Amino acid sequence: MKVLDLLIVGAGINGAGIAQRAAAAGYSVMLLDKSTIAAGTSSQSSKLIHGGLRYLESGQLPLVYEALKARRELLQLAPSLVHPVKFYIPIYRDSRRSAFTIRAGLSLYGMLSQPDPLGRFQSIPAQAWTQFPGLKLAGMTHLFQYWDAQTDDKRLTEAVVASAAALGAEVWQHSECTAIQHDAKGCLVQYQQHGVAHEVYCHMLVNTTGAWVNELLARVQPALTAPAIEWVQGSHLLLDLPAPPGILYLESCFDERVVFVMPWHGKTLLGTTETHCDTPEPQLTKEETYYLLGIYCHYFPLAGGTDTLESKIISSFSGMRVLPCGSSSAFSRTREVQFLSQPSHPHILSLYGGKLTTFRSTAKQALLRIEQQLGRRQWVADVDNLQLG
Ligand SMILES: Cc1cc2nc3c(=O)[nH]c(=O)nc-3n(C[C@H](O)[C@H](O)[C@H](O)COP(=O)(O)OP(=O)(O)OC[C@H]3O[C@@H](n4cnc5c(N)ncnc54)[C@H](O)[C@@H]3O)c2cc1C
Repeated sequence: MKVLDLLIVGAGINGAGIAQRAAAAGYSVMLLDKSTIAAGTSSQSSKLIHGGLRYLESGQLPLVYEALKARRELLQLAPSLVHPVKFYIPIYRDSRRSAFTIRAGLSLYGMLSQPDPLGRFQSIPAQAWTQFPGLKLAGMTHLFQYWDAQTDDKRLTEAVVASAAALGAEVWQHSECTAIQHDAKGCLVQYQQHGVAHEVYCHMLVNTTGAWVNELLARVQPALTAPAIEWVQGSHLLLDLPAPPGILYLESCFDERVVFVMPWHGKTLLGTTETHCDTPEPQLTKEETYYLLGIYCHYFPLAGGTDTLESKIISSFSGMRVLPCGSSSAFSRTREVQFLSQPSHPHILSLYGGKLTTFRSTAKQALLRIEQQLGRRQWVADVDNLQLG
């Protein structure tokens, strides 16, 4: 039977990032996915490599700082996959956030971006507001422009997996982990590949199955208690409308959330929602469609009603977020990654939540835990300087 240092289950961005860093750190690594690379949330995100301006409101400064640093690093390491993009925030007389609040937020965002030139922002003069064809001008008092970055999440994940494979990681798609027997030295793992059962022994198993994190833990023997989580789905609509000249950051007219109107392959991408679900399998709902189209119609009154716009939907996609259970709204709950390793099962490390943007720092934190468990190896590559894509 094959014996490995590390088996990583789930080839989304987090599994990919950990596989890359662990392989560079000299561990023998296998990465499995029951479907294809990035088949889960890592191909269904808003595709932003961003600090997350709105997290400033909930006081998540360390997360914003870390994400802005990650943005800077990814722009250097993956210039063919991550590119700067202009963001625009219109302020109206009835906006919940005043021009003063947004200016203060953008100033802080700029300070946290230092020394990145992308930290600059401006208030666009009124005569240039028409640069967004069709955007509602009635009642608009300010239009701010700042910078963040956009990527193709699936291609980014594939590039990180390719880098991990080049460093020696074994990568298997269509391979579902079905059973884990935890013992004193590691885990005996069973997986199904194209209907054929396989076994592998690993000294540590990293559970990066995203929305299925607790489903995988339920396959562990002896059994362990998984923390309570909530599944919150986010959906996007791709509309057959010309791409906007940047990303519009809009307050929802229905609740306290914000949504983005984004350019995507020459068309308009609209998202995202927050819908509580009972299963990890996301699926667009009618309510989400009308929520997103309603916001678009509110800000683009000449686009017609939601029925007209519905006929412009080219495609849609939905991704699932895992959030720790809590009483506050999903919108305001932390997006920081959480690691779980139980004293009774020290050879299993599970990840909850996190962001596409911060996958490299998540991998760094995971590696520290792996080193504690397995001891250090001889590094084979400087992963902080490996180009992606
Ligand atoms: C709607 C939405 C928008 C988002 N937008 C952004 C954004 O713009 N920017 C940003 O930074 N972050 C964003 N995020 C967060 C980010 O996308 C996710 O945190 C990240 O993609 C999660 O990656 P992951 O690797 O943990 O999980 P996933 O990408 O879901 O990967 C899990 C993988 O595990 C596999 N798997 C499951 N069970 C098994 C098993 N038993 N055996 C083998 N394989 C298995 C699945 O097939 C899947 O491929 C967004 C999240 C959502 C929900």
